[in-house]
Amino acid sequence: IKSTAVPNIDGSLNIEDDDEDDIVDLATNSLLNKLIRQSLVESSHRVEVLQKDPSSPLYSVKTFEELRLKEELLKGIYAMGFNRPSKIQEMALPMMLAHPPQNLIAQSQSGTGKTAAFVLAMLSRVNALELFPQCLCLAPTYELALQTGRVVERMGKFCVDVQVMYAIRGNRIPRGAEVTKQIIIGTPGTVLDWCFKRKLIDLAKIRVFVLDEADVMIDTQGFSDQSIRIQRALPSECQMLLFSATFEDSVWQFAERIIPDPNVIKLRKEELTLNNIRQYYVLCEDRKDKYQALCNIYGGITIGQAIIFCQTRRNAKWLTVEMMQDGHQVSLLSGELTVEQRASIIQRFRDGKEKVLITTNVCARGIDVKQVTIVVNFDLPVNQAKEPDYETYLHRIGRTGRFGKKGLAFNMIEVDKLPLLMKIQDHFNSSIKQLDPEDMDEIE
Ligand code: ADP
Repeated sequence: IKSTAVPNIDGSLNIEDDDEDDIVDLATNSLLNKLIRQSLVESSHRVEVLQKDPSSPLYSVKTFEELRLKEELLKGIYAMGFNRPSKIQEMALPMMLAHPPQNLIAQSQSGTGKTAAFVLAMLSRVNALELFPQCLCLAPTYELALQTGRVVERMGKFCVDVQVMYAIRGNRIPRGAEVTKQIIIGTPGTVLDWCFKRKLIDLAKIRVFVLDEADVMIDTQGFSDQSIRIQRALPSECQMLLFSATFEDSVWQFAERIIPDPNVIKLRKEELTLNNIRQYYVLCEDRKDKYQALCNIYGGITIGQAIIFCQTRRNAKWLTVEMMQDGHQVSLLSGELTVEQRASIIQRFRDGKEKVLITTNVCARGIDVKQVTIVVNFDLPVNQAKEPDYETYLHRIGRTGRFGKKGLAFNMIEVDKLPLLMKIQDHFNSSIKQLDPEDMDEIE
């Protein structure tokens, strides 16, 4: 095992070791979500709306025509294959396109149509004949900014004179040059630089300000303050919009600081349940033994598609090598890969080109592969205190009650980990049956 320990100035250690868990990186997850997204995410919940002025009528739309958009913009929307507004778009679009403009804070999980909504708002408010920045969108990373820019380009395909520019590190503008593009998408640091130091953007002329991925944004040091400095320099009539996939208190506090007099729209996430899942565990001596049990299960049931979770990268790699050596075809989704590589592995799996995916916690967060029928916890998810990580367990094997098919989950348990499993069973008040790996007939 390779492990290098470098003492810090304060004497603490950075352990650089393959054995480390993959680190939860919100921005990477968000990008991955975008790269593998194919369609809208559904929700059975109702959209909650909180109007800044509760007495004003509440409009919702069922079609894009009702929004009276510019012809070329409507064409762009249909060219993207959108037939009708998504659930949050039904409520958000009339507010976003109202006269006078209204501010909005909107929260709904990734994939529900937020980006498409604010891109539409920006494109509909832009004046193509005026050659200066009019819409400003802040994103947490370079890659996420590019993703949003792509949507602007696709939706604005027929808005021929509207152009996008990226205010991101590395995008150099020659001294003395002017920015004539109407829509600017960038990260807070560079945008701040372009506005105040380089005077490339005149914030007084911005009509629409979008803060996307607020939850990811506040997770990055300095971005909240930089965003607020930018917002403070905007004219009072500028429309301000904030989007977030999640809504912890910290996000909410930030949203309220940065968006004056907002309407608020929320769409609750579909809850995960273990109700449709038959859960089993196999008692094992050690890792080799777990591996053997896994192989028995592998042969014993006609597998559709399976995901196997390991706690660490190192374990995932070890398991992959073992299985390959034994002639099983598996693919490894690991944190060492670039986001693009990960997206391509997930895509292959989704397309059914791979049957078995081995991965760690973090990699598979938020990835819902609907056709997966079998989940194996090669290691139980535990937190740093070595207690069961209930949330991750639920994420790995839970399904949404409404859309979920029946599933099977297997837990490979070393004897000393049995108490953890019992805690999980109690926590979810659901039964996890012991299985003799030699006798697969026990599976109902
Ligand atoms: P979010 O920003 O909430 O993650 P997106 O705007 O990226 O959601 O939308 C998720 C996916 O659904 C994208 O592939 C997008 O092209 C698609 N989409 C968005 N709005 C609609 C719609 N009204 N009809 C069909 N597909 C849509």
